[in-house]
Amino acid sequence: MFKLTFKRGGIHPKDMKELAKDSAFEEMPTGAKVYIPLVQHIGAPCTPSVQVGDYVKVGQNIGLANGYVSANIHSSVSGKVLGFEARENAAGKRVRHIVIENDYKYDEVFFEPLENPTKEEIILRCKEAGIVGMGGATFPTHVKLEPKTPIKALIINGSECEPYITTDYRLMLEKPVEILKGVDLVKKALDTKQVFFGIESNKGEAIKNIIKHATDEQLSVFELKTKYPQGGEKQLIYALTKESVPNGGLPSDIGYIVLNVSTCLALYEAVCLGKSSYSRYLTVSGKGIKRPANLHVRIGVPYEEVVEYLGGTNEFVKIISGGPMMGVSMHNLKTVVSKGSSAILLLTEKEIRDVSPTPCIGCGRCARACPMNLMPMLIDDFILHNRVDDAKAYYAMSCIECGCCAYVCPAKRPLVQSQRLAKKLIREKDMHH
Ligand code: SF4
Ligand code: SF4
Repeated sequence: MFKLTFKRGGIHPKDMKELAKDSAFEEMPTGAKVYIPLVQHIGAPCTPSVQVGDYVKVGQNIGLANGYVSANIHSSVSGKVLGFEARENAAGKRVRHIVIENDYKYDEVFFEPLENPTKEEIILRCKEAGIVGMGGATFPTHVKLEPKTPIKALIINGSECEPYITTDYRLMLEKPVEILKGVDLVKKALDTKQVFFGIESNKGEAIKNIIKHATDEQLSVFELKTKYPQGGEKQLIYALTKESVPNGGLPSDIGYIVLNVSTCLALYEAVCLGKSSYSRYLTVSGKGIKRPANLHVRIGVPYEEVVEYLGGTNEFVKIISGGPMMGVSMHNLKTVVSKGSSAILLLTEKEIRDVSPTPCIGCGRCARACPMNLMPMLIDDFILHNRVDDAKAYYAMSCIECGCCAYVCPAKRPLVQSQRLAKKLIREKDMHH
């Protein structure tokens, strides 16, 4: 099969997937308490819908979405609401969590399973069940299902291009029928017939399995070149359609919507089984963990319990929530599993390079690796000198934070952090004008 890819830039990090790719999903047992964050999505935090002392069931709403770009949250256990606690999320920000005591009965409330739902019913269910992009981006999915422009094709992202992570790969092996049913629901919600399903070539078994189970003639599976960041929305769209999303634009502006395979699965479970989004599939990997694995975990379980379940740690120097390229590094394991926890990585000294930066040597590698055609070294320099307007003029806002530039930089400049900071400062400046 001819392998498709994006236009420019990109890198080939070691994929490290062998650590967990052959381990089938395990159901992780839940401990005595869960801590459920009131914000687990891009957008406004939820308002609690329960009080201290209330008895809640699995799947019961405990936090109501605030505004359009927000997502409901639900309890992952049955038991008593013990209180509210400010805890750090993976990004190091203190957010409110609802603490629930697990009574181990797992009494559950379901939505009514829908057999042949209408477009409106699918979108409403997606909203009620609190579905967000499960690839890690956590953008509320119902917003994506109501684009302002007609959609030519739905693009399913099965590329999972971040090293180490094997969640979507395992899901495509273990739950292909459910994923494809989810894809059908999304098609219906978007009023579109065409589906492009892109999977990287290092996931041959997944490609075969999806092709084997796909019955829809308008669904085409494409093999993508294994290259980072193949799963970036813009890179994926280009690889599959040879069309480019304009600078500052959205995929829907040119008629495409991109959804991740695990999001399709979550949507299937919400619509067809009536399950709300209170658990997720994730990969726990890196040589710092005794037993790398793929797990199904309830939301609100502390990372330290996950690590303990897997037999503890070897000596490690870095903890990452998410993938090594786009994830965030954390200083402890107190953070809990939330809707955006696509992976937990514990990396040993050998696995990561020494990260102390030295001055830029002007080699230009970062610019060559950048899939968005940016000049990361210049933006880094502008930000060091507080030249926000210059960073904007050099299109810092188009940065997709993929980390390719930092990966190739021989001086180990923290280039992603500077692009992120540039975007933040530009946004703040624009708001004051
Ligand atoms: S500048 Fe942004 S888009 Fe370009 S390589 Fe760096 S992180 Fe990726
Ligand atoms: S790769 Fe690093 S050293 Fe080379 S130009 Fe970019 S920032 Fe400078």
